Formats: sequence, C-alpha cells, structure tokens
Amino acid sequence: MNNSKNKLKICRVCGLYSEEYFPWGEDGESPTYDFCFCCGVEFGYGDATLEGVKSWRKKWIESGAKWHDPEYKTENWSLEEQLKNIPEEYR
Ligand SMILES: [Zn+2]
Repeated sequence: MNNSKNKLKICRVCGLYSEEYFPWGEDGESPTYDFCFCCGVEFGYGDATLEGVKSWRKKWIESGAKWHDPEYKTENWSLEEQLKNIPEEYR
C-alpha cells in the first residue's frame, strides 16, 4: 500500500480498503458522498477535515466500532489491522 493510488481507496476515518472503490474519487478531490461500509462516515462530509476525521473515528471506536453495513464485514476482520491502513496525514 505504498503508492498514492492505493491511498485513495482507503477510508480516512477507519482505514477500510477497497479494491475498486474511491471514497474521494480517483483524483482524491471528488468525494462520492457515499457512506463507508465500515465506519459509516459520509465521504466528503464527515471526513472533510482532519478534525472531522479524528472525531468521527473516536466516536465510532468508542461506540464499539460497529460496521455500518455488516454484510461487508469479513470473517477475520480486525479493527487493529484496519486502522494501520489509515494514511499518516489522517491519523
Ligand atoms: Zn470508514
């Protein structure tokens, strides 16, 4: 996960990585206003500022890190592992 393209496939709040998904568009500047399957943030709204990203993440983890769309949750999902995906600048 070292190139910039891959970074665009990661939810800034929870670190969810998706092969074919770009929360903020392929240019990283065109939010989709979709909701993250995992933390439920609305891309382009709840994650528009670093402050927003951090407070959403905090609230989400404090409330048990529940999946917004549990059907996408993988069997051996690990919150800790997923959080490692979050790009440096959004931690
Ligand atoms: Zn998320």
